[in-house]
Amino acid sequence: MSRYEAVIGLEVHAQLLTRTKAFCSCATAFGAPPNTQVCPTCLGLPGALPVLNGKAVELAVRTALALDCAVRQESIFARKNYFYPDLPKGYQISQYDRPFSEHGHLDITVEKKGAEAVTKRAGITRVHMEEDAGKNTHDRGDVSVVDLNRSGTALVEIVGDPDLRSADEAVEYLKTVREILVFIGVNDGNLEEGSFRCDANVSIRPVGESKFGTRTELKNINSFKFVREAINYEIARQESVLECGGKIIQETRGWDEKASKTFSMRSKEEAQDYRYFPEPDLPPLVITEAFIETVRSTMPELPVAKRARFVRDHKQTPYAAQVLTTHPEVARFYEEAGALHGDFVKVGNFVQGEVLRDVRTSGLSATFPVTASQVAELLKLVDAGDISGKQAKEVYGKMVGTSKTPREWVSELGMQQVTDAAAINTVCQRVVDANPKQAEALKTGKVAMFGYFVGQVMKETKGSANPQMVNDALKRILGV
Ligand code: ADP
Ligand code: MG
Ligand code: ZN
Repeated sequence: MSRYEAVIGLEVHAQLLTRTKAFCSCATAFGAPPNTQVCPTCLGLPGALPVLNGKAVELAVRTALALDCAVRQESIFARKNYFYPDLPKGYQISQYDRPFSEHGHLDITVEKKGAEAVTKRAGITRVHMEEDAGKNTHDRGDVSVVDLNRSGTALVEIVGDPDLRSADEAVEYLKTVREILVFIGVNDGNLEEGSFRCDANVSIRPVGESKFGTRTELKNINSFKFVREAINYEIARQESVLECGGKIIQETRGWDEKASKTFSMRSKEEAQDYRYFPEPDLPPLVITEAFIETVRSTMPELPVAKRARFVRDHKQTPYAAQVLTTHPEVARFYEEAGALHGDFVKVGNFVQGEVLRDVRTSGLSATFPVTASQVAELLKLVDAGDISGKQAKEVYGKMVGTSKTPREWVSELGMQQVTDAAAINTVCQRVVDANPKQAEALKTGKVAMFGYFVGQVMKETKGSANPQMVNDALKRILGV
């Protein structure tokens, strides 16, 4: 047991899914040739004026509401001044002392070894709007290059309270934030492409101490795995510094993936004074009560509510509800197929057992191997006794990537389930006649032997006989 407790607060930067940038009409599409999505405003040319993107405000408010934040009716944009080659204006438009929203919270599920998972509420300090910078690349030998396509893209920054106490809690918090943003359609959740980024503030204090220790800030870590590793490394590093009688210095640290270590980037003394001041080129941001209500009334269902509904209305297990909501499109597909078929549990099982294996997701979109109506129809064929469950899986395998209906495949594969009572009876009789010893054993009480007969009949019919009818016929012939 460590003598220390970790204290962690996270800052998330999430790119809002607007078609155009925060303060100009340049496109935001990822992957365009460098410096092709720029204009005087996002290049910071003298005299160019920003005009706020209304869609960005809507998505930002949606974010704030999903995190249960209070929305300020009049907030202020501020200039955060610093010099860097990816920031042509020499300042970033952000929000400072009057952000548009504050005081929210988020519930995370914390797993503890050997104990039941518990729900923990983590505070959200604030959510504010800002613009992104461009991107520097340093892999061209002697030169560094700058791509300003991303410059001016609309972001929300979500600042969390220092409520987290372990790397696991921090990762759970991040996954929960990401899931919410993806489900409400404001962010594509892509850590690799940098549209969802996080900084982790980490400090430690002796167990029982109420004052916080000095924190370090870990910058821009681009995967959940690295977040966990970087925080754990940083906790251990701080412990060893304190144990050796040293002091933690407030600094910004980076994560070295290759060495699996954090390293110092700059200390507090070197930290810049951003000289924040109100942005003179933009009026105060006014968000009316009516606007908030409109956003609230069009808010997509949050993942937690969706799971609860799947458990309550569809009789899914909590585990199944979790799996069926791993992506908004998966949930939508399952609900569509379920509604067409009628039995959500059957459809949920089939989606989990077969379909999910072949689903490919990318950001907010997903491609499915088959359509929801193909799944519903296929399972209806099973219900009608036309094919067995085993045959349904085979048909599914054939159907992937084709537009043929399940019925077309069933007849093409010649796999109509045998529901002809006389035919089934004949096979059952043959199997019983060929196994007199087993039949005797069954009659003298060896109940498990019944399964042997079912198995033999299914083998003879290559799985095509209707299982219920086989059961009935065998019972009658064997007199059990
Ligand atoms: P800054 O503007 O320098 O980043 P903030 O006060 O806005 O500073 O805090 C940023 C983040 O640091 C928040 O997420 C907060 O929870 C976290 N934080 C603040 N103090 C501590 C601390 N002592 N230990 C860990 N995290 C902290
Ligand atoms: Mg910070
Ligand atoms: Zn522009």
